[in-house]
Amino acid sequence: MELPFRIGQGWDTHRIEAGRPLILGGITIPSEFGLAGHSDADVLSHAITDAVLGALALGDIGLHFPDTAPEWRGAGSIQFLLHAQKLAADGGYSIANVDASVILERPKLKNFRTPIRERLASALGLPLSSVSVKFKTAETVGPVGQGLSCECHAIVLLTRS
Ligand SMILES: [Zn+2]
Repeated sequence: MELPFRIGQGWDTHRIEAGRPLILGGITIPSEFGLAGHSDADVLSHAITDAVLGALALGDIGLHFPDTAPEWRGAGSIQFLLHAQKLAADGGYSIANVDASVILERPKLKNFRTPIRERLASALGLPLSSVSVKFKTAETVGPVGQGLSCECHAIVLLTRS
């Protein structure tokens, strides 16, 4: 049965590494460190991509974009997201809205909320009001709180198009 709605959840984490860019939702954030990874390590785009794939029950980002695949080396992660959106469209679904949380101790991200939302909304062809990005710290607790990593959670709702 083709459901009128499908919901998906995504989670991702990347290690913090000096000398790497910090890219969140396709936006480069000024920072003395960034995130380690095979691709551009855009943890936010990865979590949203996984949420879209999850809504479709099509596995996870590692299945579609294995880090052994040379064609994705250094890939901009917005490409992963757009590929997942295309898989949704192929299945007859479109993204209704996205809600994501980025958990990072520093730098402070609040000034980047609008650019990140605008970048994601523009890439996905969604109104700004359909893309929510929230920022939290881990209150100095655990690997995120100790500045070792960044985490992101995302939920996506698909509707039958
Ligand atoms: Zn990732």
